[in-house]
Amino acid sequence: MISITLPDGSVREYDKGITSMQIAQSISEGLARNVLAAEVNGEVWDASRPIEADSAVKLLTWNDAKGKATYWHSSAHLMAEALEALYPGTKFGIGPALETGFYYDVDFGDKTLSSDDFKQIEDKMIELAKTKSEYIRKPVSKADAIEYFTEKGDEYKLDLIKDLPDGSITFYTQGGFTDLCRGPHIPNTGFIKAAKLMSLAGAYWRGDESRKQLTRIYGVTFPKASELTEYLHVIEEAKKRDHRKLGKELELFAFSEKVGMGLPLWLPKGTALRERLTNFLQKAQVKAGYEQVITPHIGHKNLYVTSGHYEKYGADSFQPIKTPQEGEEFFLKPMNCPHHCEIYKTKPRSYKDLPVRLAEFGTVYRYEQSGELHGLTRVRGFTQDDAHLFCRPDQVKEEFMKVIDLVLYVFGALGFEDYIAQVSLRDPNNKTKYIGTDENWALAETAIIEAAAEKGLRTVVETGEAAFYGPKLDFMVKDALGRKWQLGTIQVDYNLPERFELEYTGSDNQKHRPVMIHRAPFGSMERFVAVLIEHCAGNFPLWLSPEQFIILPISEKYEDYAKKLSDELKDSDICGLIDFRDEKIGRKIRDAEVKKIPYMLIVGEKEAAEGRISVRKHGQGDLGSMSIEEFKQQIIKEITV
Ligand SMILES: [Zn+2]
Ligand SMILES: [Zn+2]
Repeated sequence: MISITLPDGSVREYDKGITSMQIAQSISEGLARNVLAAEVNGEVWDASRPIEADSAVKLLTWNDAKGKATYWHSSAHLMAEALEALYPGTKFGIGPALETGFYYDVDFGDKTLSSDDFKQIEDKMIELAKTKSEYIRKPVSKADAIEYFTEKGDEYKLDLIKDLPDGSITFYTQGGFTDLCRGPHIPNTGFIKAAKLMSLAGAYWRGDESRKQLTRIYGVTFPKASELTEYLHVIEEAKKRDHRKLGKELELFAFSEKVGMGLPLWLPKGTALRERLTNFLQKAQVKAGYEQVITPHIGHKNLYVTSGHYEKYGADSFQPIKTPQEGEEFFLKPMNCPHHCEIYKTKPRSYKDLPVRLAEFGTVYRYEQSGELHGLTRVRGFTQDDAHLFCRPDQVKEEFMKVIDLVLYVFGALGFEDYIAQVSLRDPNNKTKYIGTDENWALAETAIIEAAAEKGLRTVVETGEAAFYGPKLDFMVKDALGRKWQLGTIQVDYNLPERFELEYTGSDNQKHRPVMIHRAPFGSMERFVAVLIEHCAGNFPLWLSPEQFIILPISEKYEDYAKKLSDELKDSDICGLIDFRDEKIGRKIRDAEVKKIPYMLIVGEKEAAEGRISVRKHGQGDLGSMSIEEFKQQIIKEITV
């Protein structure tokens, strides 16, 4: 008999050679129907693979990320089987799972695949899936593996086998298709109920431009047809909300190849939006005891030698900026922390002065490969809503609670309601990887966990995910489409205070090291604005809208009245514009709708005579006639909510 420990800590006895599927069956038939694979002592295995010794077993279903990955990788095999059936002689490269879906790199010889062929392949996949063919694992010798793929004439698999040690090679067969694979796989193809091929791309074999370009086919599958429908809906909606598209349409930001890739240009409307966000956070920070600082965009090489960034990132980051003076080198700053450490050091600090909270909307530059750049979410220059808190070890928890309050205030004001906090702790079995004393780590980790619990945060704890310099807390936000984004972060740092020899005088009159906390509720202005655009589909909360109203005069006779109205609203800090174009009112309304301007104020003969306005709200339609005063009150009420 062997002992199997389940995730809830319970231990069950089974015969040696039991499979995870049989374990599932012994618990409940319903569970067994949903088991895709199992984690055995931390490694994902086929549910049908015999377990020979005492083990910790976690059954994986569609609800587990690793279950999904196994499912999607198995779907890549199914697609390959379909391709081989439809296009005999096809050769296969690699076919891994992705975060969503999978791909397979394929050599079709002379045939060129197009998206017109997708339907036929999808249908074949489902036809094959219905046979409920098991994925059968078979260890093979290297010689047999070479013989099989030599006979098949698949030079890509042979190229892969070449690097594998004999004795480690396994084949997987489902139906009539056999692949070289280390697995794991789902029990059988019957779990795959819906399949969709998404796109095609070229991919050089092994990423080597001197070798053959294969066809990469992206696909996705689901255990229910309705899940595929839902997924495709989200993709369609995401396309409409793509911040790159909306950023252009709403004239928020732009990129210019002349200026440089990955360097956003904020247009007037985008700048107005960004400044409102900045002011909003700055105001909250002042209330929370932060002091604003400004530091330069570059720093002397020695600054980064001291901070350790030079050693760690030197080669990957931008090249040094050399001055005419010999030997002098500067770098574009990759982060604001070293500058802030130097600000901390400008005067002696006593325990009574702490915490010192230095905030800066600091623009930093980091090298990203051009292929990695993506709208505002992956850029080479961005502005962090950065701050560094220098505190005593006994203040860490309180400071964490205050930062959590600030982050939640930001999320609340911007309509992010669904979020979880990830607490990243160090790996207790590998302590040498980390800097700082055991005592301080214990203190900080407990402080973070307690602070998160006292604030009622929904948290996941990830052991071993801490940075080498300290534990951290990251906020993952779900947007309106259910997509996850990492936004705010709070990190404890024992490293920089050490490297910069930061000190304060304690109540014992001795010198002590302060603890440093990095935090950024938005993450960066660029990334946050991108997420915000996609979350609200460009319909910003009224207080953030770059243009809150547009006045639409029915004809030029009412322009003076429109100007008077506009001035009056602007005096109350409500901003907007007037559509002076010689266009029909219907056209003006349609254009304002496209620009997602929250309020349209229509003025014609009746309105001008009575000193009133006809109000339309974006997405809601006609709100009827109002006096200016009534409208102002409505706006002010909406902005302060
Ligand atoms: Zn496989
Ligand atoms: Zn920092």
